[in-house]
Amino acid sequence: MHEMSITISMLELVREEMEKDGGGTLKSLKIKVGELTAVEPGALSFCFSSAIEGTPLEGARLYIEEIPLTGRCTDCAKEFHMEGFLVGCPTCDGPSIEKIAGDELEIVSMEVL
Ligand SMILES: [Zn+2]
Repeated sequence: MHEMSITISMLELVREEMEKDGGGTLKSLKIKVGELTAVEPGALSFCFSSAIEGTPLEGARLYIEEIPLTGRCTDCAKEFHMEGFLVGCPTCDGPSIEKIAGDELEIVSMEVL
């Protein structure tokens, strides 16, 4: 499962960070998930809960910030949500669109006590 492997590598990172900081108890973890990653936030939460069960991280909460797939027109600099197959800027109809957000998959912050 896509979400499970993401959860496992994320938790490895968390453990490394916590070891560097001298341990503690993980209270919560905040992550950013872009629309383009095709990660289901519900499935990710579920994987997170089951992955930390019976480990020192048990009880930590996961907060997921969903980032919409966002594009920007290089002609008029308008930003918009990219839905489906876009052939041009919805404002000026310009053909040059760059993706500026939506493929994030990263840890934003972690609360350790
Ligand atoms: Zn435009």
